[in-house]
Amino acid sequence: MRVTQAGFVPSQPHDKIRNIIASPLSPELWPLVDALDAALLATDATAGLSGRTLFGIDAGDGAIISQEPDFAARKVGDRYQLVLGGAPQHVTVSESDVPEVLAFAAAWWQAHRGDAWRLHETPEDISLILADIAEAFAVDKLDELPAVPETTAAPIGWIDNDHGRVTLGAGLRFGFFPAAVAAMLATLGAETTITPWASLVIHDLDESHAEAAIKALAPLGLIFDADSPWLRITACTGLPGCAKSKSHTHDDAVALMNSDNIPDGLVHFSGCDRRCGHPRVAHTEYLAVAEGEYLITHQR
Ligand code: SF4
Repeated sequence: MRVTQAGFVPSQPHDKIRNIIASPLSPELWPLVDALDAALLATDATAGLSGRTLFGIDAGDGAIISQEPDFAARKVGDRYQLVLGGAPQHVTVSESDVPEVLAFAAAWWQAHRGDAWRLHETPEDISLILADIAEAFAVDKLDELPAVPETTAAPIGWIDNDHGRVTLGAGLRFGFFPAAVAAMLATLGAETTITPWASLVIHDLDESHAEAAIKALAPLGLIFDADSPWLRITACTGLPGCAKSKSHTHDDAVALMNSDNIPDGLVHFSGCDRRCGHPRVAHTEYLAVAEGEYLITHQR
């Protein structure tokens, strides 16, 4: 109720599908995110999409494409390349058309998706969507697909901006965002972005405020050290939060962090073979078989 009163649910029917991610170090994308949100809200058909549908705006850095959004646009020069079903396409549109084009594509797919939840499950639809977009909007064709940088790491630590301003990236332990951290950020008054990588970005601070923020937030568990094992060891909910789990995954992950046996690269603890929250890239998987006992495999 308080969330609704605060204005975070402008349309109950659309509430589960307003999943929009944008490159977290690019505040200049925020107006485009707002415009896309408005376009989705203004389109009745999009309310019927699966709650797993993911929309994105990529600044060109590949951060959002790495999350394989269903309907997205990536900045390429002064235009935006369409990304459908997680795959960049040979089509660009103007910035002003991005919100309407993505809402149009999503509404098209809602009318045709049947039981599919994600666009990549019906790849044959992508060329049909692009053909109808070309009929309705001014599009340009790309002869070649621009290279996409591989970017899956959260921005962490002190990031100098122009004019002496600072952006801070901070990891969240096991993805938890404690209320004490939220209260401290409210006191700080800086714009804050939650990223798809269990981390925060705190924008546009002067140096003294950035130093004060680190001093206040690090003791509350936020991670500002890019080499911290907390950034590469993740765990599903586990016991006691999930009844399916065979072990206390968080406790076991912390025990590994405090040992001398941490494998290289990313590590994920799963309490059962659903492997909730596992990384989408190569990692070492600890799959619980009993309390404190794991099957260890390498996943790609
Ligand atoms: S992986 Fe299994 S145990 Fe872990 S949160 Fe998911 S369902 Fe629960």
